[in-house]
Amino acid sequence: MPIKNGAEYIESLRGRHLKIYLFGKLVDEPVDHKMIRPSINAIAETYDLAANDPELASAHSSLSGIQVNRFLHIAESAQDLVNQNRMQRKLGQLTGTCFQRCVGMDALNSLYSTTYEIDGKHGTVYHKRLIDYIGKVQRENLVIGGAMTDVKGDRSLSPSQQEDPDMFVRIVKRDPKGVYITGAKAHQTGCINSHWIIVMPTMRLKQEDKDYAIVGAIPVDAPGITYIYGRQSCDTRSMEDGDMDSGNAMYSGQEAMIIFKDVFIPNELIFMDGEYEFASMLIERFTCYHRRSYVCKTGLGDVLIGASAAIADYNGVANASHIKDKLVEMTHLNETIFAAGIASSYLSHQTPSGNWQNDDMLANVCKHNVTKFPYEIGRLAQDIAGGLVVTMPSEKEFRSPETGPLLEKYLKGRKGVSTENRMRILRLIENMTLGRNAVGYLTESMHGAGSPQAQRIQIARQGQFEKKKKIAKRLANIKEGEASETVLEPSEYFDRIFGSDNKKK
Ligand SMILES: Cc1cc2nc3c(=O)[nH]c(=O)nc-3n(C[C@H](O)[C@H](O)[C@H](O)COP(=O)(O)OP(=O)(O)OC[C@H]3O[C@@H](n4cnc5c(N)ncnc54)[C@H](O)[C@@H]3O)c2cc1C
Ligand code: SF4
Repeated sequence: MPIKNGAEYIESLRGRHLKIYLFGKLVDEPVDHKMIRPSINAIAETYDLAANDPELASAHSSLSGIQVNRFLHIAESAQDLVNQNRMQRKLGQLTGTCFQRCVGMDALNSLYSTTYEIDGKHGTVYHKRLIDYIGKVQRENLVIGGAMTDVKGDRSLSPSQQEDPDMFVRIVKRDPKGVYITGAKAHQTGCINSHWIIVMPTMRLKQEDKDYAIVGAIPVDAPGITYIYGRQSCDTRSMEDGDMDSGNAMYSGQEAMIIFKDVFIPNELIFMDGEYEFASMLIERFTCYHRRSYVCKTGLGDVLIGASAAIADYNGVANASHIKDKLVEMTHLNETIFAAGIASSYLSHQTPSGNWQNDDMLANVCKHNVTKFPYEIGRLAQDIAGGLVVTMPSEKEFRSPETGPLLEKYLKGRKGVSTENRMRILRLIENMTLGRNAVGYLTESMHGAGSPQAQRIQIARQGQFEKKKKIAKRLANIKEGEASETVLEPSEYFDRIFGSDNKKK
């Protein structure tokens, strides 16, 4: 039976006996753990949104012939990719955090085209296996986590050069039925809240790294997996009584380290095995999708801009010109992120496999903006909030008969505004800029889908500086024929803008 809504999704996670370590102990039932539950609630929203607004958060899949959650849909048009972005912004607004399902969505889409091309070269059957697998998860309506980032050890060395060969996930054993993998994946978003994990390589591989060229789907409760829960700033506030101090009591993100020890992947769930030369294609396509998925942060930006406008109002400064200007600046930055992401989706092209891939240059520009602008939006939010955002007493003091009346009197804002509401909105700003959801809004913005330099490399590759030199020299009336100092990799970015006829001009 497919999972129909958020409540059924939450129930589907019970009783799986995962080996999860948190605070030095095994977690009995993550669903009932007060610190973990907000992250589960965030994914539950993705189910409820699909039920309540199917146009936005579901799609008709021609693979399975049914309406499926958009997070499980293989893009059949540019509009499908635009709709992913619309859904991501909405979910960011609804949760104020990372809702954890985009890595899986982007992994399925990048694998769809990459497996097709591996089969074309090697005569393998990965694409058909993947289609069967996608059909199954679509019909059952499951959550997929995408496990790409290895722990990596010495960053200057390739997988096979590491002193400890387990620094990257690798095949350690084979039998006629499949392969066994060992290693660890770091920072895994929503992995404990998922039903399946797709393991993928994290970097370009060479012949000697063949055992590291493994892609496969693994149930989250497969034998041999250990999860070590990641701490988030102020996370234990979720375990306290009351709901004010956590700032956003309902929702949070989740990251954990996944350790694989001889974990089995059966042949029918293997989508790459040794075709090392396709690792870079998979990673580039995945990061291309995922870097534009970071428009999710504009939904969070909407929340933070709203919180800033609300606190300005509570403080009686809503009409001050510099406050209005700061809100405009925050909006300008937020929409600049959205503009690049959604433009990347609109500028999609069809791959040989038939699915659609967004524009790489604009995806990288989108993500690069995300590594910077949320920090500036956060700075402006803290400016507008005032110092109380970091000096406010706890909810316990507010509820205490001794100190409560004092706080009620001395933490008042403008007339007609409740002190409690003023404290709540300040806690939300703290949550997003310093607390639990600053993980999602700030540091995930920096490193998720690749650290800033990874985008600069991609932008440089697609800069078409030779082409731009030609454009400039024509206007300066410089005759061609001289030797060029730099020859950069060719890119089709201008072809995607102007059409391939542009080459002739
Ligand atoms: C909140 C969060 C959620 C995430 N979720 C997921 C997920 O769901 N799935 C997943 O697979 N990954 C996930 N990631 C991982 C993310 O993709 C990585 O954090 C990112 O790729 C950077 O890798 P790293 O953290 O190991 O940093 P490092 O590689 O240690 O980078 C640190 C710095 O060193 C530089 N550097 C690294 N290597 C080199 C080199 N060889 N030469 C020169 N400079 C170098 C980087 O540019 C950076 O400035 C998540 C990350 C975060 C923070
Ligand atoms: S960071 Fe954004 S894109 Fe990535 S999984 Fe979370 S919500 Fe989705």
